[in-house]
Amino acid sequence: MKPVAFDLRQPGTVDEAVELLTGDGEVKVLAGGQSLVPLLNFRLARPELLVDINRISELQYVREEAGGLAVGALTRQRALERSEPVARLAPLVAEALPLVAHVPIRNRGTLGGSLAHADAAAELCAVALALDAVLVAVSRRGRREIPAAEFFLGPFTTALEPDELLIEVRFPRLPASTGWAFEEVARRKGDFAMVGVAVVLGVGADGSVVQARLAYASMGPTPLRAGRAEAALTGRTAGPEAFAEAAELAISELEPTDDIHADREYRLHVARVLTRRALARALERAR
Ligand SMILES: Cc1cc2nc3c(=O)[nH]c(=O)nc-3n(C[C@H](O)[C@H](O)[C@H](O)COP(=O)(O)OP(=O)(O)OC[C@H]3O[C@@H](n4cnc5c(N)ncnc54)[C@H](O)[C@@H]3O)c2cc1C
Repeated sequence: MKPVAFDLRQPGTVDEAVELLTGDGEVKVLAGGQSLVPLLNFRLARPELLVDINRISELQYVREEAGGLAVGALTRQRALERSEPVARLAPLVAEALPLVAHVPIRNRGTLGGSLAHADAAAELCAVALALDAVLVAVSRRGRREIPAAEFFLGPFTTALEPDELLIEVRFPRLPASTGWAFEEVARRKGDFAMVGVAVVLGVGADGSVVQARLAYASMGPTPLRAGRAEAALTGRTAGPEAFAEAAELAISELEPTDDIHADREYRLHVARVLTRRALARALERAR
């Protein structure tokens, strides 16, 4: 099918884009187009106006800051994958990126597009949750910062208002003695995760867990954190026993459903195994 007719505007600055987003009628931002264009072609999205942000060069950057890493929303996934500051300051992002689709898609797909699209199966959404990323949005009303924990509201639904443009994602610097890992099972390389887990694990000098974050892809209507498992891990001696208990607790918090790829029981089983595996790998790195 072909999209319904729409107007296309190609602003060169964030200010121009924000002005265009305030118009009447349905307006959509076009970033890499890797999710939006199929939706347009299937007529599942029927905007009257597309605001193509690809000419806004000020939205493409990876910047090292005192608190961590700031990434422009239009930064291509492939550029992130190859970025030295990302590998050093947000290694969980670097680890997950090769699992996102395929190189031609990552050449166009953007960080902001993946988060704004908010597919519960998307690797980068789970990673943003696990890293406590902060998403920066602007509109004519001003600028606001949205913690990742408050960003994903429902299937393909975020806290962004229709007139807001996502401009930046901040990944806080990981403290010393903190490990990370991303694990997933997908039907084929490059497919969306059937189950994905992003882990951040901080370990003290005495070997106890000082911080644990577990975020899941494809285990509910949104990317999910397993808060009870995180709390139960904190203070425990990091190791197989604590990790196995955390994995059991985590799966009791997850809400997977059956679909054509896998049923709920299978997903829970895989999540249990991947959680233990990811925690063990994160512990090696923390040490
Ligand atoms: C064959 C195929 C396989 C894929 N496999 C995977 C996979 O395994 N894992 C995965 O995570 N993804 C996968 N994707 C999706 C891919 O990662 C997309 O690039 C990504 O989801 C969307 O990014 P985009 O820049 O292309 O956004 P677009 O498609 O341009 O936009 C997506 C949505 O976000 C909104 N948006 C985009 N940027 C902004 C912004 N700055 N501010 C506000 N709203 C914005 C748009 O309006 C739209 O609603 C796949 C895609 C394809 C085609």
